[in-house]
Amino acid sequence: MSKPTSHQPIILPRDQHPISRKQIDEETLKVLYRLHRNGQLAYLVGGSVRDLLLGRKPKDFDIGTDATPAQVRRLFRNCFLVGKRFRLAHIRFAGNKLIEVATFRRHPREDELPEDHDEHFHFVQNVFGSPREDAFRRDFTINALFYNIADFSIVDHVGGLQDLREKKLRVIGDPLIRFSEDPVRMLRALEFAARLDFSLDETILAAIEAKKTLIATAAPARIREEIMELYRHKVAGPVLKQCRELGMLPHLLAGYPGTDESIALISKIDQRTASGVPIEEGFAIAALYLRLFMDSCPPSPDLHITEVLHKANEIIFPHCRYFSIAHGIRHQARELLVGCFRLARGRGTRGERRFLQHPLTPKSLELFKLWSEVRPELLPLVKEWQKAIQTSPAEKQETRRRPRRRRRKPSTRLPTH
Ligand code: ATP
Ligand code: MG
Repeated sequence: MSKPTSHQPIILPRDQHPISRKQIDEETLKVLYRLHRNGQLAYLVGGSVRDLLLGRKPKDFDIGTDATPAQVRRLFRNCFLVGKRFRLAHIRFAGNKLIEVATFRRHPREDELPEDHDEHFHFVQNVFGSPREDAFRRDFTINALFYNIADFSIVDHVGGLQDLREKKLRVIGDPLIRFSEDPVRMLRALEFAARLDFSLDETILAAIEAKKTLIATAAPARIREEIMELYRHKVAGPVLKQCRELGMLPHLLAGYPGTDESIALISKIDQRTASGVPIEEGFAIAALYLRLFMDSCPPSPDLHITEVLHKANEIIFPHCRYFSIAHGIRHQARELLVGCFRLARGRGTRGERRFLQHPLTPKSLELFKLWSEVRPELLPLVKEWQKAIQTSPAEKQETRRRPRRRRRKPSTRLPTH
C-alpha cells in the first residue's frame, strides 16, 4: 500500500476493515449520527479507532467534527462547553456519562503563535483546521486514524494503518521537533509501545536521548497524570526502567534517579494491578521511594518512630511538592513507608498491638509482601506478620472490656436558663 504522502488520505471502505457499529458505544453513535444528519463531518478519532482495529476494548470514544463548539451546542440540548482555553463540547447522557466532541484543529503557523512561550502549548491546541490538519497535529500515526460515520470507512492521512499492521510506533513528523514542542510525547511514546507491545521506530529512541532533559519543563500535572496512566495500564515497571536506562528518570521525577530495585518492585505492582487490584497513587509513590527509605532507616528497635516518620516525610516531600500531591495521598504514602519499616523490624516491639489494628497496616503488608519478592530474605517476616494480622481481631475482641460507666456527680453548674 502506498504511503499517504500526497494530499489524499488512504480510505479503507467498510468491507475492508473489521470495525462494526456494534462495537461502538450507543450514545457515541447517536452523537455521530446527529452531527452527520446536520451536514457536519463526524469522525470517531484517536485511541478508540486504534483500539478497535487492534481488537481491543477502547477506554473511551472521542469524536472529531468540523462543527465549531458553538454549533455543536446548538445541536444538542444536553451539551455544555468546557475549558477556557481548550474549547470542547461535552454531551451529557444518563448516568453522568459524557461524550467529548472536539472541533478539528491544526498546528498554528510560527507567526500566529503568541509571544509568551508558556502560552504555546494551549494555543497550539486551539486553532481550528481541516481533518487532515487535525490528523497531523496528533502524536503518533496509530493515534491519528479516523472512522467516518458517513460511510463507515477508515480515513488515514498519516500512514497509521500500515504502522498498525507492522506493530510500529511512529511519530508524526520529525520526533526531534515534536518532542521539543511537547516533551510529554516522549513518555507517551514509551507508554504506547509498552502497552501495545509495539516496536519503537529508531528515530524515537535517538530523539529521546537528545531531548530527555526537556521533560522537566513539562507541566508537572501532566507528567503526574501520564505516570498514573502507566500504572493503570500495568506498564509502569518497564516504562520507568526504560526512562532510567535512557537517563530521563531524574528529569521526570524532580531529580530522583530511581533504583533498579524500586523499579523491580513497580513491576510487581503492575502484576498486582493486572490481577484486578486497582492502583492508588499513595501506594505508587511509596513503592517508588521504598528502597531509598529503607536504606535511610535500617530496621532497628532503637530508632524512634517519630524519627522514622521524619525520614519518610523528607524522602517523599520533594516529589509531593513538585507534583502538588494532596495531603491525603501524601499521608498515605508516608504511612505505608513507616508501616514497611515496622514490618521489616520484626515482631515484638513497642506499639505492636496498635500497629496491627491500624487501618493502613494490611496495605503496608501488601507493599511489603511485593517488596519481599524483590528481597526474598524478607519472606519469613511476611509470613509471621500475616499470621499476626489474621489473629489480631480475635485477640482484640477477647481483651476488649466494656468501658466502665462513670457515675455522674450531681451537677454543680447552674442552669443556663
Ligand atoms: P488511551 O487509551 O490512553 O485513552 P488515547 O490514544 O485515547 O489512549 P489520550 O491521551 O486519550 O490517548 O488522547 C487522545 C488522542 O489525542 C490521542 O489518540 C492523540 O491523537 C491525541 N493526543 C493526546 N496527547 C497528545 C499530545 N501530547 N500530542 C499530540 N496529540 C496528542
Ligand atoms: Mg483516550
